[in-house]
Amino acid sequence: MYLRGVFRASGRTETRIKKLAVICYSIIQIGNLLHTLRYHFFCSTMAMNPPTHTHRAATLTYLQNLSKIPLNPNLTLTKERSNLSFDPLLITHLLDGGPAQTHRRRQIEHLVQGDPVIFSNQTNNHLSRLSRHKRALAKHARMISLMTSLNIKITDPDETNKHLEEFSMLLNGIADDLPTSLHWVMFIPNIHSLFSDSQKAWILPMCERFEMIGCYAQTELGHGSNVRGLETTATYNNFSDTFTLHSPTLTSLKFWPGSLGLTSNHAVVIAQLIIDGKSYGNHNFLVQLREVSERSEL
Ligand SMILES: Cc1cc2nc3c(=O)[nH]c(=O)nc-3n(C[C@H](O)[C@H](O)[C@H](O)COP(=O)(O)OP(=O)(O)OC[C@H]3O[C@@H](n4cnc5c(N)ncnc54)[C@H](O)[C@@H]3O)c2cc1C
Repeated sequence: MYLRGVFRASGRTETRIKKLAVICYSIIQIGNLLHTLRYHFFCSTMAMNPPTHTHRAATLTYLQNLSKIPLNPNLTLTKERSNLSFDPLLITHLLDGGPAQTHRRRQIEHLVQGDPVIFSNQTNNHLSRLSRHKRALAKHARMISLMTSLNIKITDPDETNKHLEEFSMLLNGIADDLPTSLHWVMFIPNIHSLFSDSQKAWILPMCERFEMIGCYAQTELGHGSNVRGLETTATYNNFSDTFTLHSPTLTSLKFWPGSLGLTSNHAVVIAQLIIDGKSYGNHNFLVQLREVSERSEL
């Protein structure tokens, strides 16, 4: 139809053109076939023999050099380490703060490594949130017993203190996120810096024994960096000598307080102090969330 349409030729000419088209098509098909065969032949030849002597020699040298590289990376490391121009132990002591600290760190890490069932981190990425929380609490409980045996205390205000140094050695050895971490990262430092001596006297021993486990509730849904804008109020009740804490709006909802959901039984809540209808700005309030012994919500 196409040919007839294009050439409008006579019947005989049309037959000749058709024959010519069939011949051209066959030539193209044979060309394709030869090309494919040539390609397969080329590939198999390449696989068996590199094309020239130069290429072959280069390939052999490459393979020989490759076989010289040790498969065990530790061998490579060992070789590099044997070439050191300094004593690595001196650097270790420098980083730890001295030979005594290196010794203590290794002692503490050894204790953690000696407890691979509790302190294992191997399945961390495969546990559900609840299983991970449960296991992290088991780690926390074991950590406390190690702290008792090593006489590590965490409520000392002096940050250069030996106890805190050893506590951080212990945490580095455990190398996992514990649901209680806000307790020593935010809660205890807050009690230290903003609470009165008489308040500290009864709060800190409870923190030390982990009877009181705290979190820090400052950020609100609508207020992060803008701490002055916090909307949660703590209104003083003259008659009962108490405070009523209240987040009256959606934007004043406390947001991000790690540990609050499942673990902590107390919170330091940052709220605007209101006395007789007047705001005195943000202050810290200790709020009990759960029963200390039973851990049930209040
Ligand atoms: C992992 C994690 C854990 C947290 N745990 C706690 C917790 O336990 N308790 C708690 O109370 N909060 C917690 N927070 C909240 C945290 O303190 C807030 O995220 C932080 O205060 C910043 O607030 P935002 O996220 O609302 O950011 P925004 O304040 O909205 O800031 C957003 C961006 O704007 C910039 N910005 C803000 N203000 C200004 C300005 N005036 N000028 C120029 N740039 C500005 C900021 O630098 C930032 O880049 C946690 C947050 C994270 C990520």
